[in-house]
Amino acid sequence: MRAMPTRSLPRRLLLGPGPSNVHPRVLAAMGQPLLGHLDPAFLEILDRVQAGLADLFGVRAGLTLPIPTTGSGGMEACFANLLEPGDAIVVGVAGVFGTRMCEVAQRMGAQVSRVDSEWGSPLHAERVAEKVEEIRPRVVAFVHAETSTGVQQPVEAIAQAARRVDALVVLDCVTSLGGLPVSLEDWGVDAAYSGTQKCLSCPPGLSPLHFSPRALARVQARQRPVQNWYLDAGLLAGYFGEERVYHHTAPISAIFGLAEALDMIAEEGMPQRILRHQEASRSLLDGMTALGFAPLVAVDHRLPMLNALEIPEAIRESTGGEAGFRRRLLENYGVEVGGGLGPLAGRIWRVGLMGENARLTSVEALLSVLQRELR
Ligand SMILES: *Cc1c(COP(=O)(O)O)cnc(C)c1O
Repeated sequence: MRAMPTRSLPRRLLLGPGPSNVHPRVLAAMGQPLLGHLDPAFLEILDRVQAGLADLFGVRAGLTLPIPTTGSGGMEACFANLLEPGDAIVVGVAGVFGTRMCEVAQRMGAQVSRVDSEWGSPLHAERVAEKVEEIRPRVVAFVHAETSTGVQQPVEAIAQAARRVDALVVLDCVTSLGGLPVSLEDWGVDAAYSGTQKCLSCPPGLSPLHFSPRALARVQARQRPVQNWYLDAGLLAGYFGEERVYHHTAPISAIFGLAEALDMIAEEGMPQRILRHQEASRSLLDGMTALGFAPLVAVDHRLPMLNALEIPEAIRESTGGEAGFRRRLLENYGVEVGGGLGPLAGRIWRVGLMGENARLTSVEALLSVLQRELR
């Protein structure tokens, strides 16, 4: 018999833009024997997962649920429910994921107006607000933690501008959830999506979603049904609401894993977890600047879980190119870091310290291999 290929898989320290490493407790939870998706023992776990996600999102009302897809699928789900063909949307764009929002909204048949900021800078809240006043769109959308640049975006000022014209606010929380404070209700955000493989430290495969009561009312008031049967929040509410009637077969094992990860977050406490991300990032930046790297983002807007670092010219030359150098780190030391995207390709590294990896041990592991290679 041929050996299972999984027996020879390498071990990696995943310090890129996601996925992050998964705690053995989560992997063990995912290996538990299956339950049926309508079994009361499973529904009890699902209740806990939905309540835990609502806590993380900072919401007490509306519909909070994990759907089987990744972050981008969560983005599709929010737009598919809240936009009808011809609806206007204003999107704040300062990186790959803001750009992706525009593409997805366009495919929904929406009229997309984008307000761009330079990659590496935060969105200009006043400029977004002006556009929102001018267009009076159905939806205003932007990214909380822009993983392509390492920038934290201003949420409240933009959300308030949207509220003034009665627009719904959609926020991408893929990289922020579980690592930064998220408070959708206080901020006035109506729909948000995340992914399990970043600061929640689960394998990829689930997208936590939230729809506020206002967002659900909008779905009810649509002139035509949501084009994607699978993503229709009204139908999803049948299974993820009180009734617990079949919609799709929930991905049982993935939800076991998420339940365990949420338990671990509750045990640690979000304030402590946020602090842990900040401390890890600070010590990474200290070590990397000593090696000649420079933070791309101004100090007030830096993400702790995604550190964008400009690569010094000397390192680009002496290592025979940054991509080859990253490849050596991966193959020789099992350490993965991310490269730059779009205009930042070749210019920056993106070092993720997400969830389980936001620890001094991961920082020290990266710094020591870099010191050794650059000596
Ligand atoms: C990773 C990411 C996504 C896309 O998530 P996938 O799981 O890759 O589909 C969307 N937005 C942000 C901010 C991300 O970091």
